Amino acid sequence: MSPDTMTVQEGYEGLSKEIIPVKDDGVCCIDGRYEESGMLSRAGADFGLIMGVMATSEKLQLGYSPEKCAQMVYDFATKHHGYFDIHTDSHNSEIFNDDSLSIGCAHVSKAMNGTYSHMYSLTPGSVERALKWVVNKEKTRIAVLEGDHAETEVVIVDSMVDTILHKSQDGSMRFVIDSARDEKYLRSFCEEHPEFNFETLQSLIDTQNKATLSLIASKLPIIRMSI
Ligand SMILES: [Zn+2]
Repeated sequence: MSPDTMTVQEGYEGLSKEIIPVKDDGVCCIDGRYEESGMLSRAGADFGLIMGVMATSEKLQLGYSPEKCAQMVYDFATKHHGYFDIHTDSHNSEIFNDDSLSIGCAHVSKAMNGTYSHMYSLTPGSVERALKWVVNKEKTRIAVLEGDHAETEVVIVDSMVDTILHKSQDGSMRFVIDSARDEKYLRSFCEEHPEFNFETLQSLIDTQNKATLSLIASKLPIIRMSI
């Protein structure tokens, strides 16, 4: 992610004790409520990639349905790390209940909201259709995060080997974006699906990430870490 419209601080003084090695066993969201991670941290976890793929399909006029986009990313994620990863929270523990959807992931819930969906180049109906398709699949893994948001910063990590804790031992929280590892993840998706141009996909996902940060983290400092 390159938040060129936002002020980015360089360095990570004071954060070095929070650095942990990466684990390539899943994908998590940028949400600061994850207790323990090391997984690839990207907005919306694997569902964020569906959102990017849907916007790219529209931009490149590929004509793919939300269900097809969801299936492509589900197949990619389950082949890559065994699961399709998504999260909600303890305030919305049942995502799909009585034919209505509510999810505790702000990246998804904002895109599904008609007030904000244009910021994601998506329609609420397309996000709902993709979410309904994927939420009850056998290999969909739903993390239920406890408590409320208390993030104090956004950290963008440029490293393939280390990342940073979302929640510190003292309970302090930060949004975490593993930008270098995410670029590799997106490139491998585009290698398997050559009709998806990498630069277009990355640019649309960058815009979607900025939309979420502007809605839920607009006052927080952004720190870029090259470990
Ligand atoms: Zn989330």
